[in-house]
Amino acid sequence: MIDLNSRLERYIRQVKMPEIGENGQEKLFNSKVLVIGAGGLGSAAIAYLAAAGVGELGIVDGDTVAESNLQRQIIHAGNVGMNKAKSAKIFVEKLNPEVKVSTYPFNITPDNALDLIGEYDVIVLCPDNLPTRYLVNDACMILKKPFIHSAVYKFEGELMTVTGSPCYRCMFPDVPEELVENAVIGTTVGFFGCLQALEAIKLIVGLPVLSGKYIRINTSKLDFLFFDIEKDQKCPVCNGKLRGIYPENYTQSCKIIKF
Ligand SMILES: [Zn+2]
Repeated sequence: MIDLNSRLERYIRQVKMPEIGENGQEKLFNSKVLVIGAGGLGSAAIAYLAAAGVGELGIVDGDTVAESNLQRQIIHAGNVGMNKAKSAKIFVEKLNPEVKVSTYPFNITPDNALDLIGEYDVIVLCPDNLPTRYLVNDACMILKKPFIHSAVYKFEGELMTVTGSPCYRCMFPDVPEELVENAVIGTTVGFFGCLQALEAIKLIVGLPVLSGKYIRINTSKLDFLFFDIEKDQKCPVCNGKLRGIYPENYTQSCKIIKF
């Protein structure tokens, strides 16, 4: 058994911060974080959450690593052809063997979302498609679990931390336009993945987060735009009308048709 002082040595630079301290580090050691998607956002989020010493990391991804991923998905170096959740685990074990990693080498679906999310304290949402964002929003709201959303296109990205109402559906009652080009610069994706890890760390140690706000950043101009989000009075999730997770609600339009 390693005593606390020698265990803290690795984290000393953040433990020296009064906002974190030994208490905050203990909270990190005892935390369970689920990262949904080990792509560009997930790579940065997983790396910095592991480095910060979260106790348990769950990693969900059904994809395999492709050559064209490595421009931004930097934790998968040398692992082309491997499942991304398994590849991410290898990276974490090298960076910080103290972190317990559970891999889920499949996609999150309406059938498994509540079970997966139910096991964790904080959810970091890094998928590559819109139905998954609505699915995780709804499951987290039902289970009262906080989650951190981000999405990036070219030089631009957005960030939102949901800790209860208002939710992702309040901000986006209609599905945003899907950006079919998939064009993105790796540095911007990494930047947003780091912001997601930071929000998760702040939630765990008890510092204020971006709750009720939405940030949009154009990293080519370094323009930061902040918006306050209001609860949408018609939001079926925040109104408590949605009681379960049904596949019918996560098709093309992501509209809730079954409650
Ligand atoms: Zn809502």
